[in-house]
Amino acid sequence: MKILVINSGSSSIKYQLFDMTDKTVLASGLLQQIGESQSRLTHHTRNPRGELEEIVETGHIANHRQGFQLIGIVLQKSGAIDDTAELSGIGHRVVHGGEEFHEPTLINQKVIDTIRRLIPLAPLHNPANLLGIEVAIESAAAVPQVAVFDTAFHQSIPIHAFRYAIPQDLYEAHRVRRYGFHGTSHFYVAKQAATFLNRSLKSLNLITLHLGNGASVAAVKDGKSIDTSMGMTPLEGLIMGTRSGDIDPAIIFYLGRQTGLGRDQVESILNKHSGLKGICGVNDMREIGELAQAGNAQARLAIEMVCYRIKKYIGAYYAVLGQLDALVFTGGIGENASFIRAGSCQGLSHLGIEVDPEKNNIRSKAAFEIQSEDSPVNVLVIPTNEELEIAEETVATLKRNL
Ligand code: ADP
Repeated sequence: MKILVINSGSSSIKYQLFDMTDKTVLASGLLQQIGESQSRLTHHTRNPRGELEEIVETGHIANHRQGFQLIGIVLQKSGAIDDTAELSGIGHRVVHGGEEFHEPTLINQKVIDTIRRLIPLAPLHNPANLLGIEVAIESAAAVPQVAVFDTAFHQSIPIHAFRYAIPQDLYEAHRVRRYGFHGTSHFYVAKQAATFLNRSLKSLNLITLHLGNGASVAAVKDGKSIDTSMGMTPLEGLIMGTRSGDIDPAIIFYLGRQTGLGRDQVESILNKHSGLKGICGVNDMREIGELAQAGNAQARLAIEMVCYRIKKYIGAYYAVLGQLDALVFTGGIGENASFIRAGSCQGLSHLGIEVDPEKNNIRSKAAFEIQSEDSPVNVLVIPTNEELEIAEETVATLKRNL
């Protein structure tokens, strides 16, 4: 059973082709710089001997339609598929499902119209996701397609946690509320944590920390998300690569008055020039780790601020959950930056969270635990796999609907 997973961005298309009988990746690729003079497709296929073969195509790809055509050609040329008829389904990552989508959904015209109606909530992401869906339907009309929403896992958050304390009519008219993102990743690692701990997900209380370029934390009670740090948009919450995370909202108006910067400029500063980049000039945590080791004071400050913010959320979500089975680190930083894991958990032994420095230094592509012998709370490092989760949810949705 072959499932193609598509993550269509504004100038890029990422894809993975899975054989869901054994969950192996048959092919994967990334088309970048769509619309620019030198677009670049890097494609990998696993050959019958299990080796990865690379194909690189460069040239001008004017739009997503041409991009999909090229991906189709390369998928065939590499032997990954001969015909789209071999696909059992296509799963699309869709960033914003608003209040309308609580679970992955089989795509039809009504679903497309609803995703389009949600564009004001995610103006950077939903149009590109939608384009991916429309072009995929054009190229493979007979293949069922499923939308998997970043927001869906967080639709279980109760109203007292998702409402902002702003006038009711603004919530009702403009749906200003917390939605949360990275839901596919939080759900995936929560399920993996249950497997690792040999428990049912329904019996577990977890704090899941997805720390990548974007970062968010979720409080998971009895297997369901009950709060998360990203809000109406991915700007709220933890300190990220280039996003500020939580700030006093009055800063926006103050900056406007003091500097004469317009609304869009301030928005761009908070999204693209803040976070790690704003603090120390670099947004890559690996590089920041190296700078900090070499004694760079701003890099050290960035790490301290990141860990302090994470720690505050751990404390808040622990209080909300009441009892905690495991803290789960994932994402490029969560999986690899042991100094961020150590710093975030430092001084939390009174909460039953203690990291063993030696276990924390293990490097592994599989899930591993890093809590000390006496730590009542498990601390886990679990690699995320959003593409596989989308593929699995696509299969489950097809089974439910067809
Ligand atoms: P995205 O949100 O774009 O998917 P990732 O989840 O890949 O991002 O995370 C990217 C972040 O992970 C970057 O800040 C990168 O520096 C960091 N990272 C990756 N490997 C390491 C490592 N070995 N040590 C520290 N940071 C790392």
